[in-house]
Amino acid sequence: NNEQAAAKAAAVNANSGAPTIFDKIINKEIPSSIVYEDEKVLAFRDISPQAPVHVLVIPKFRDGLTELGKAEARHGEILGELLHAAKIVAEKEGILDGFRVVINSGPTACQSVYHLHLHVLGGRQMNWPPG
Ligand code: AMP
Repeated sequence: NNEQAAAKAAAVNANSGAPTIFDKIINKEIPSSIVYEDEKVLAFRDISPQAPVHVLVIPKFRDGLTELGKAEARHGEILGELLHAAKIVAEKEGILDGFRVVINSGPTACQSVYHLHLHVLGGRQMNWPPG
């Protein structure tokens, strides 16, 4: 389908180190709705929300983390900080009673932007299994 085709196309450039749209968001070259920001992490609303709350949490410095599948030991600290930021976002958004954190890694998972990001989803009943 279209989603899978787009994901495969995005994956072609995944490891080229090419900048992604998220660099423009980090550099405030294109607008985003920022929910949380600190020195290392940025959280902003997804442009195509899949739930009443849908926020993306990203590292400001990609450092090779195009996808979770590229993670190495040196990334441990930032990976922990991203998860903690997801909790801060859930708290700010009032969904601490129930929320979901998703990371799509690679074309088979339909990853479309090759700058690691956590999806924080909530504000409605979440179902299992995911699609
Ligand atoms: P993934 O498919 O896991 O790679 O997720 C990428 C997400 O980025 C999708 O949910 C898109 O809706 C979202 N996205 C793409 N461009 C933007 C943008 N300019 N602002 C906010 N979210 C975006």
